[in-house]
Amino acid sequence: MIGPIDELEKRLAKLPGLGRRSASRAALQLVREPVRLMEPLIAALEEARRKVRCCSKCGAFTTADRDPCALCTDATRDGGILCVVEEPADIVSIESSGAFRGRYHALGGKLSPMRRTGPETLRIAELADRVAREGIGEVLLALSTDMDGDATAGYVNEMLRGTGAKVSRLAFGLPADSGIAYSDPLTLRRAIAGRRDV
Ligand SMILES: [Zn+2]
Repeated sequence: MIGPIDELEKRLAKLPGLGRRSASRAALQLVREPVRLMEPLIAALEEARRKVRCCSKCGAFTTADRDPCALCTDATRDGGILCVVEEPADIVSIESSGAFRGRYHALGGKLSPMRRTGPETLRIAELADRVAREGIGEVLLALSTDMDGDATAGYVNEMLRGTGAKVSRLAFGLPADSGIAYSDPLTLRRAIAGRRDV
């Protein structure tokens, strides 16, 4: 293959959902249509790289000129309930389900003894701080249903003991070992509606 096309294909194949074959097709189409496809893509990539940030308060994706983000500053949202997720992408999924109208807190991952991710690498202290300062009545844990997700839920629950906030967790029904980000809107709506106390 031709060097630069090969390189482009390799980069595209690293993206989720793009196998080697689709990456190859995408790469060939890009070089075939530089003006219609390649240049706008380069511009979009550069703009996203330059402007997208994580909100300093909740951790959701936002832009540099909008921090705290729109979710944190929207007065029509319920400030009494906080949904705790692992990644900012999880917030995007829950928002698209339309089933949650409170605010969010992304931890930036989950506890994992295997990968040596301890509480200090996650935004757990910030969470406890927010619950105390913002007068949060309920914390809904929307964490994955694997061992690390369970360990994280247990730890967060322990941390919030004594704050007076009720801690709940999404109902089961989410496929085991799957992240929130890959769950479909209907499953998420059911899981939020059927949440139970921890
Ligand atoms: Zn925010």
